[in-house]
Amino acid sequence: MVTSRELGKTRLPLWAAGFVALICMTILGLSAWREWETRNTELRNAEIDVANLAHSLIQHADDTFELTDTILVGLVHRLELDGLGPDTISKLQTYLPTRKSSDRIRGIFVYDETGRWLATTEQIDFSGLNNSDREYFRQHRDSPAKGTLIGRPVKSRSGGQWIITASRRINHPDGSFAGVALLTIDVAYFAKFYERFDFGPNGSVSLLNNAGIMLVRTRDESGAFVGRDMSNAPLFKNWESRPAAAVYYFKSPLDGVQRLSYYQRSSRYPLFVLASKSKDDVLAPWRHAAATRAIVVFGLVLLIAVIGFYLVRQLSQRQRMAQVLVAKEANFRLLAEQSSDMVTRIGLDNRLLYVSPSCVRITGWSAEELLDTSALAGIHPDDMERVEQAIAALKRGEAEEARFVYRQRHRDKGEIWAEAALHVTLASDSGEIDGVVAVIRDMTEQKDLQDKLASLATTDGLTGLANRRAFDERLADEWARARRDGTQLSLLLIDVDHFKKFNDHYGHLAGDGCLRALGRILSATARRPADLAARYGGEEFAVLLPNTGPDGCAEVGEGIRQALHDLAMLHAQNPPSRLVTVSVGAATGLPSQVTDSSTLVAAADRALYTAKDSGRDRLVMSGQVVPWPAKSA
Ligand code: GH3
Ligand code: MG
Ligand code: MG
Repeated sequence: MVTSRELGKTRLPLWAAGFVALICMTILGLSAWREWETRNTELRNAEIDVANLAHSLIQHADDTFELTDTILVGLVHRLELDGLGPDTISKLQTYLPTRKSSDRIRGIFVYDETGRWLATTEQIDFSGLNNSDREYFRQHRDSPAKGTLIGRPVKSRSGGQWIITASRRINHPDGSFAGVALLTIDVAYFAKFYERFDFGPNGSVSLLNNAGIMLVRTRDESGAFVGRDMSNAPLFKNWESRPAAAVYYFKSPLDGVQRLSYYQRSSRYPLFVLASKSKDDVLAPWRHAAATRAIVVFGLVLLIAVIGFYLVRQLSQRQRMAQVLVAKEANFRLLAEQSSDMVTRIGLDNRLLYVSPSCVRITGWSAEELLDTSALAGIHPDDMERVEQAIAALKRGEAEEARFVYRQRHRDKGEIWAEAALHVTLASDSGEIDGVVAVIRDMTEQKDLQDKLASLATTDGLTGLANRRAFDERLADEWARARRDGTQLSLLLIDVDHFKKFNDHYGHLAGDGCLRALGRILSATARRPADLAARYGGEEFAVLLPNTGPDGCAEVGEGIRQALHDLAMLHAQNPPSRLVTVSVGAATGLPSQVTDSSTLVAAADRALYTAKDSGRDRLVMSGQVVPWPAKSA
């Protein structure tokens, strides 16, 4: 079962990747939002600029047309009072130039009811000129309205340039049409005035009348725009219901430029000013700065994404490694816990860091009881030094593994023999030795078997005495010791009398029993720790008596012979006693550099031979094997 916590852990890299992505998206989103805000602020500031511009320019247009109005009203009033007689006209011809005081006014004209020129400020011969074809003339002639009429731009008949006309009807005293007073303003005057303002390389300012006729437009050197009828432009849709001033975004039908503009209507005249800036011009500095900022932001996001990717990869790699480690650890535990051997981990301070459950079988204590105790506890004092040295050598790095057999205390069984296989462990990060793993096996049974085998190799199966091989080894050892210490060494060779006949008479099994009985007598006799009774071969026995002289030797031999008598085993074929008897050959030697142990055996054998020859059931002492001190002297 996978718990939700484990699931969360395995999904950690996914969460981290999501987090990094979120940060990147947030940075990008915030930057985009901020740029959008900046862009809108730029546009709003530009709107305020064009609005201020439009306010100023409509004020200027109002002032200009107010001036023309004042002049026209005065002129018409005078002409209506004085009439259009020749006297008046000639006076007018001198009066008019005084009225053209301002450079705003191009010229002043008076026409009679037929359109004929009566007077003008222009220095031309106008005797043949007639303006009855002009639209303003027709309008004044056909309508009794007395107001000032601002007409559409026309090409000047006198100067040839574009002009804006402002005109008023002149009445006869009876109210009938008497003519028209006209005042013209150069379109160039407005255009020049407008050029003083900064509206950007692709901006423009236009002055239009409410009918949609373009009166003035900046950047119109060729005069292509003046007089155009713009009434089809979207701005004029619902024109009457539109507010007096407003921001207006449009794509210019004249030059195709996307414009941000502000129109402001005149409060007094049917005119309005449209001041506009190119949207591209307004946004160009922002676009430039935004592009630079975008590069920085994208760079930053890319950096975060790259670092994030690297970290997430590391994280998932580490997690995979951790999972592998956990699996390995689980495998190790499974192995350790299923093993019949006791597996332990020992720290550098010799404390047990881990103990497998088999410890119960091997030490009698549970893993919980052993954990954190000393790994050396319970080791037999005689083995302690050896074990400590082996572990210390491992920890010093002198060896990678060690193997030894030692005695270990068991809670219930007292003591067991154990075999330990030790191996150093290295820290995964530093590679330094950080402890030892010990696999401990109960060797008691093997040890017992070993001991048994060892004793079998040296013991005679029938009598339980030492066998011939063990006797030979002991004889050589004792001979060497006696020679070293300068002590005497005695040997008894014992042979059952007429044993062949005993076998023949009582059977082989009875013979074996007889030999066993003799064996018991021998082991009871050779009581000193250094004494050794052995079966020398067949029904022949040997007793080795270290540090024993001829007297002691003879005494032991006699004791054996007597003990067998006392046992009184019947042997009908062995006269005269008709009991089982032995003949004993005894020899005592003082080992020296020039003799070896075979001389002692030979001497004892000779004595035994003599005993047999002399009638059996007796002990014969050989003389000293090595004449001493005679031979050495
Ligand atoms: P002597 O008095 O001269 O020693 O006569 P003997 O018959 O004892 O001597 P011999 O060496 O001729 O015979 C020894 C006999 O001991 C031969 C053999 O059958 C018997 N013998 C040797 N080993 C064993 C044994 O393990 N068990 C039995 N039952 N008999 C054995
Ligand atoms: Mg014999
Ligand atoms: Mg014999």
